[in-house]
Amino acid sequence: MTPRMKTHWAVRMNHRNRTGGFAMLCLILGLHMAHKDHSIVVWLALVVQFLVYPQLAFWLARRAADPFEAEIRHMQLDALCFGAWVAVLHFPLWIGFVLFTSSAQNLTNFRGARGLVQALMLLIVGCLLAGVAIGWRLELQTDPLVTTLAIVAISLYLIAVALDSYSRSMRLHDTRRTLRANELALQEQLTEIQSLQAELHDQARRDALTGLFNRRQLSDIMDHELARCARDGQPLSLLMIDIDHFKRINDTLGHQVGDEVLRETARLLGERTRASDMLFRYGGEEFLLLMSGDTLTAQELAEELRKCYASSPLTSGSSPVMGTLSIGVSTFADHGVTFDSLIQAADQALYRAKGAGRNRVEIA
Ligand code: GH3
Ligand code: MG
Ligand code: MG
Repeated sequence: MTPRMKTHWAVRMNHRNRTGGFAMLCLILGLHMAHKDHSIVVWLALVVQFLVYPQLAFWLARRAADPFEAEIRHMQLDALCFGAWVAVLHFPLWIGFVLFTSSAQNLTNFRGARGLVQALMLLIVGCLLAGVAIGWRLELQTDPLVTTLAIVAISLYLIAVALDSYSRSMRLHDTRRTLRANELALQEQLTEIQSLQAELHDQARRDALTGLFNRRQLSDIMDHELARCARDGQPLSLLMIDIDHFKRINDTLGHQVGDEVLRETARLLGERTRASDMLFRYGGEEFLLLMSGDTLTAQELAEELRKCYASSPLTSGSSPVMGTLSIGVSTFADHGVTFDSLIQAADQALYRAKGAGRNRVEIA
């Protein structure tokens, strides 16, 4: 609930309660005064206070810069005037009780304990001012009709307060529920965004066609891997793997078959590598295998991959596509100590394998 909405609601509620309650009070006080010898001024004050003033207060509160504060001031004025009425009517017990309870209750409702203290002070001040002005007299009794009406009035007033407090707490309950629902929706959206972010992060590191890590991921981890091998004195080998005459497959069988061959190549290579090795799609039809092990171990694996590949069908169907691989091998620290120098060495070895007739493994 925004402060503006709260203010509106408070002003509206007070207007309704004040109009009804004051009309009832006007009747009770009028009946009580009928048996006494009050001057015309007091009668006039009765009409102004209980019939005119509620409308004036509403009109002023609606036009105030801060309607809520204006309404608080009106309730303080209510307490002051009620104190005065108690003295003017010479302290009738039942009427005093009604006036005291309603104004104390109103301010307490809006201002808590501070409101209660304010109400008491204002009631006393109003009472003192009126007492000093017109003199002190004590007539505690009210006739049975007035007493009954006073009891009815206070009962109705308490019921109205209870209903208002019920609708206030229901409104609060609804607001809380809406807030909670919004919070849950936001939380769900956040979770979705986070999982999309993670997915995006993963996608940025993987090649869409084969699902292998891409070149970006390779350069991200390479420095770390080289530093680790340098620290532990471990060798690290690079296998630059290139499909032979791949362009022919594309040209004769179409790009889609070419894609299928690339996917199958990735699968076959992945199948033959150890869990500790890492396979990347380095370029169009070039793959890079990063493995812990010296040149000899790398050469053995490269040979195994080459042989296996040459005997594996690369497409499904009755006349599957067959292919061969050329592989260039380089090893840290034998053929270079930086990422660039190792790639270059493996590339040169691959170039030699191509030059020597393809379907071969060459060492840098
Ligand atoms: P070499 O034996 O010398 O390696 O010859 P090659 O034909 O394999 O090599 P070349 O570099 O001449 O051709 C590679 C081709 O791979 C060219 C390019 O159109 C194709 N290519 C690159 N990426 C993809 C892809 O994602 N899908 C398909 N179908 N083809 C690709
Ligand atoms: Mg190539
Ligand atoms: Mg090729």
